[in-house]
Amino acid sequence: MNDGWNICKDGQQQGPCKLNLRFTSNPAMLCLPGVTGKEKLNVPAEDSIIDQRPREKCGVFAVYNYQGPGNAATIAYLGLLALQHRGQESAGMAYITSQGLQVAKGMGLVSNIFSRDDLFKISATTILGHVRYSTTGSSSTINAQPLLARSFDRKGIALAHNGNLTNTAHLHNKQLHEGQIFHSTSDTEIILSNIFRYRHLGLLSSVKKAMDIIEGAYAVVLMDEKCMIAFRDPGGFRPLVVGKIDKSYIFASETAALQTVGAVFDREVEPGEIVMVNSKGLHAEIYKQAERKSLCIFEYVYFSRPDSEIDGKSVHLVRRRVGSLLGSRINANLDMVIPSPDSGVSAAIGLAESLKLPLEWAVHRNPYLGRTFIAPSQIEREMAVRLKFNPIKAVIKGKKVAIVDDSLVRGTTARVLASLLQSSGAAEVHLCIASPPYKHPCYYGIDIPAAKELAALHEDPRQLAASIGVNSITFAEPEDLYRAVGEEEGNYCTACFSGNYLV
Ligand code: SF4
Repeated sequence: MNDGWNICKDGQQQGPCKLNLRFTSNPAMLCLPGVTGKEKLNVPAEDSIIDQRPREKCGVFAVYNYQGPGNAATIAYLGLLALQHRGQESAGMAYITSQGLQVAKGMGLVSNIFSRDDLFKISATTILGHVRYSTTGSSSTINAQPLLARSFDRKGIALAHNGNLTNTAHLHNKQLHEGQIFHSTSDTEIILSNIFRYRHLGLLSSVKKAMDIIEGAYAVVLMDEKCMIAFRDPGGFRPLVVGKIDKSYIFASETAALQTVGAVFDREVEPGEIVMVNSKGLHAEIYKQAERKSLCIFEYVYFSRPDSEIDGKSVHLVRRRVGSLLGSRINANLDMVIPSPDSGVSAAIGLAESLKLPLEWAVHRNPYLGRTFIAPSQIEREMAVRLKFNPIKAVIKGKKVAIVDDSLVRGTTARVLASLLQSSGAAEVHLCIASPPYKHPCYYGIDIPAAKELAALHEDPRQLAASIGVNSITFAEPEDLYRAVGEEEGNYCTACFSGNYLV
């Protein structure tokens, strides 16, 4: 470890891994994520840890002591694939070897990073996995997770985080003055370092120490050589569930990942709760309670898979209900409802039902491309939309259509879809958005563009419709969302719609 920035395996410098995996088991006090000695830490100013811009949108999947058929790494791989929509820039897995904890991670999709052979080389029964998305600039292996902290006795902690801390700058500066060295630009390292420094108290106590000082959104899973712990911020911004497969426990960001691996839903990790599994079984305690819950309502609107359930509510059915409520807000004579594939499907079903109109699959989606919201630059995003969608002219020609999407962020998808529908002969195009106008940035773990990029920020609906190139635009109202989830506003974060920031 001459410069401390070499890819290594089992504590030995070995040069770049032929499998293109990033092995990190450096016995330093804090993890040195897999960065080669030749790679520079080239972090743009906009990615500064001080500016506190939201960076991460992630998924966590972990399996503890898997004893079923196949191997645990394959279960984790499938779980991460099921959560790929939550992060497409990097992925990783932490697991125990005879040499202690080790992390394999890299940039790209889960399937690009881990081969079948790689998975079968991992014999561990406990695996902690993560997929990550970051904003431009912070996309780097150095921030890929899980992060790993190890001491000279090879004992360590690996940690994966979904969310975004809101007091990162304060804690970062404080710990720098105390002599802390940071190796990533991620707020996740702040959580890890605060747990690691108190590990002599026991893992449960050190997690509590960290929860005493970190603020914001965090759904975290960590492991050491003996146990796995999951914990969630007191408001519960990000979802985190517990599942069971045979006698093994699974932690996952979404229930869809549990179903993918054949596990059954057991319980939510409640807001402010710490759930620990070890050889004695499961221990859970509410450690911190907030005055009110603050689950991100955008998880229902956009981020979670429609086949997931959050707080016992089907994401698909919530979206369908919003679409149905949208029906009473539209002021146009329509011939058909068209979903924006695939993000508008659930709401379009509800809208078509409520208006008693045909639901037409009139825009084909190329399934081999990622979501436009998480492509890195505006030009790439526009090209991606055109690559992604192709309208079916025979269905659209001469018709007055409602095109339905779950949200309007930059408006890129809506603009291109509107122009594609018009060039296919649509008589009128009315845009229906199954969420309120998105007007404020998110500081709790979702990459929402800077205010100047938000399509609905400054314009009234008529101007906005003109600038997008549609005949009209109709948004759902906040109360439609509350009615659709069947709960009060007070249980959700709605800051990106309302500007009402809870933390
Ligand atoms: S600001 Fe919006 S996206 Fe962020 S947590 Fe709140 S509801 Fe979710």
